[in-house]
Amino acid sequence: MRTILFGPPGAGKGTQAKRLVEIYGIPQLSTGDMLRAEKAAGTPLGKQAAAIMDAGGLVSDDIVIAMIEERTKLDDCKNGFLLDGFPRTIPQGEALNAMLANKGQKIDVVVGIDCPDEVVRDRAVYRRSCGACGTIFHLQSMPPKVDNTCDKCGHVGLTHRADDTLEAVNKRLTKFHKETAPLTSLYGAILQRVDGTQSPDVVTRAIRAILDPLKAKPAKKKPAKKKGASRH
Ligand code: AMP
Repeated sequence: MRTILFGPPGAGKGTQAKRLVEIYGIPQLSTGDMLRAEKAAGTPLGKQAAAIMDAGGLVSDDIVIAMIEERTKLDDCKNGFLLDGFPRTIPQGEALNAMLANKGQKIDVVVGIDCPDEVVRDRAVYRRSCGACGTIFHLQSMPPKVDNTCDKCGHVGLTHRADDTLEAVNKRLTKFHKETAPLTSLYGAILQRVDGTQSPDVVTRAIRAILDPLKAKPAKKKPAKKKGASRH
């Protein structure tokens, strides 16, 4: 099952992807996470991307396309993957289609998580994530049980992303409407929308209603031939 989680920043793609990975056993491919890992490791790519990311801009198409091309070659992608934050521009979408077509593959479904700008702004400003396992919290609607501590793994130290300031979020929203939203023209026929303003559990259920029917079904066993059965 090859799926794209599509939507504005803060729509809940990351939160949902982490749940779906556990449900379907396919990896989450998040270009944002990959770039943040490069940044944290201080690689030349990370250094190059850091300023663009912190200001809410988009890293060049060539870089993210190459990252996804390499990542999808890994063994854990053989049964599918969930793309989160990629593609974000028409050239990225076209490159992805070509990359998959070369292998006789395609995107099965695009799940569009709709979320209005004002909700996105609120989520970003209050979003905190675990520095160890990536679990996402909202300081008002989904706060950690113990201050600054991850409920899931116990790590102390929840971080506020540098690009979750109001200024950077406004820039990311402008980029989304101008460069990312037009991708719906590429995926019109396989795009299914869910309302991302609902609680995470309700959104997960809505996504499952779309993805469950696509789950790979085990191949039917051929009935064993009876001994001496005619070949006609
Ligand atoms: P995200 O975690 O998906 O919100 O991504 C964080 C930041 O990483 C974005 O604001 C961009 O600066 C950069 N980024 C992530 N994915 C892409 C992409 N597909 N194309 C360009 N830049 C990206």
